[in-house]
Formats: sequence, structure tokens, C-alpha cells
Amino acid sequence: MTYQTRLGLAILSAGLLSAASPARVESSGEGEPLKKLMDGNKRYLDIKYAHPHQTKYRRDLIAKGQHPFAIVLSCSDSQVPPEVIFDRGLGDLFVVRVAGNIADDAVIGSIEYAAEHLHVPLLMVLGHERCGAVDATVKGGKIPGHISSLTKAIGPAVERVKGKPGDPVDSAVRANVEMVVEQLKTSKPILAELIHEGKLKVAGARYDLDTGVVELLTGANSKSAASDTAETSHRVTAHPVVSTPDHHEDKSKAAASAAPKPIEAAQPSHAAPASHAAPPSHKVTTQPVLSLPDDDDKPKAAAPAVPKAKH
Ligand SMILES: [Zn+2]
Repeated sequence: MTYQTRLGLAILSAGLLSAASPARVESSGEGEPLKKLMDGNKRYLDIKYAHPHQTKYRRDLIAKGQHPFAIVLSCSDSQVPPEVIFDRGLGDLFVVRVAGNIADDAVIGSIEYAAEHLHVPLLMVLGHERCGAVDATVKGGKIPGHISSLTKAIGPAVERVKGKPGDPVDSAVRANVEMVVEQLKTSKPILAELIHEGKLKVAGARYDLDTGVVELLTGANSKSAASDTAETSHRVTAHPVVSTPDHHEDKSKAAASAAPKPIEAAQPSHAAPASHAAPPSHKVTTQPVLSLPDDDDKPKAAAPAVPKAKH
């Protein structure tokens, strides 16, 4: 049997099996894509990576066409790679990255393509802690070169939280996410229409560089985030290893298992509009079972036998 034939059969059998498998459903169901993202972030936090969809089989399977389940607009910051922090793989996320996760025409066009042409049902705008682009905007002053195009876009978010309590950069990070979400939700004609038709949902979130937690700010069951409260944060900053340029970080499972685990549900604390929510207000995850990523990583059929060398 040639390799091509085996591959063809594998794909065929996977297709037949997957058609009968509810787990194969790409992205239907209210909230499901968001749950996939948050479950992936939980695996990442718990150091229980599944590294889904990173096999040659997956690559071959999706080569005919992509069907990502979420669009992520995130900052270009090297510490915030969506596929890593959401523990996903090939063909899962349609990622648009630009410093400060702003939405200019090229960004909106990219999102429109994914939402309308690829029918991706979820868009997440993902800001992050200590964002350099936001920090530069807060600091102000003369901004060199084209970087000013970023700070100009972030400026309104900085203005929105000016004079309010809390860390000005983090408040602006949150406000920036909120404002980009608003901008995209009202972007005509394509995105606004898809949202109106219920074909696209938009969520805003913030990634914590220290803990790895993705915290929902807007979207899903949340109302507009209270970006005027920089410290509505309720997370447990429990990650012991921060800023170690150690190349063994992925191998230190023993150390990791001994470390306290983040127990946060990565949910917004809407019930606590006060600036300084008391520690007990933080939520502990109530999800006992994480859904595992769907399984397009290998053929469902038995692996072809390895031919033995003849003597
Ligand atoms: Zn950034």
C-alpha cells in the first residue's frame, strides 16, 4: 500500500468516524468556542498541556481548508502567543496580532474575512498586562516613527480611565480591550451584521503575564467591563516561577506539581464593581471536568503496521 493510499484511507476513515462523533462538531453551540479557549487556558495554567492538533496528520487533514473555531486579536508581544496560552494547534485559531491589539482597517479586514468567509463564530480581543504599546501611550511624549499610529489608536482608552483609581496602564489595557470590542461590534457592514444575526460573538479578555490567566472582561454572560476599576482583579497570583530565563521551564513538572496551582476560573467579577474587591470575592473554578480538545491529531483507524525487514 502506498503512502498516499494509506493517507487517503486514514482521512476517509477519520472523516466517516468524525461524522458520527459529536466531538467532531466544529464550533456550533452557544459559548462552545469560548469554552474551548478557556479550557485550553486552564490546561496551560495547570501545566496539563494537550498540545492538540500539532501532528502531521492534522496538517494533512486541514490542508484542504481551514475551519478555525475562534478569531483572536491579540498583541504582538512575544509573551502572549494565543496558540500557546490556549493550548491549541494547527487550524484552530485565526490569529490577528498587532501591538496594542488595536483594530485598524487591515485588522478589521482580516477579521471580516475570518468571520464572513470562514464562518468563525467567536472573536476574542485579548489585551495583556503591562502592554508596552499601552504603556507608551500612557507615558506620552514624542513617539518615534510609525509607533505613533499605535499610541494614537490607544489614546482614547487612556483618556477614558484618566484620573480614575488603579494602575493607569492596567486600567488602560482593560479600557483598550473594551473599546476595541465596541469598535468591532459596531463595525459596518460586515461585523455588525454578523453579530446582529447571531453568527458572531465578541469577547474581550486580558492576559496576565505573571499568572498566565486569561480573564474575561466582556462578552459571554458579562456586561460591559468596568474598566474604571483597575483592581477588580481577584486572581491568585500563585505562579512561583516568573522571569526565569531558564530553558527547563517546560520540563520542570516536578517543581510545577509541587507549586500551588492557580485556582481561578478566569471569570470577570461583575458582582464586585468596587475598586478594591476583597480577596474572598475571587471565584474558584467550578468546572470539575475540562473538555479535551477534539481529536484530529491522528487517524482513528489502527496505525499501519510497520513493515518488518526481511531476513
Ligand atoms: Zn502588548
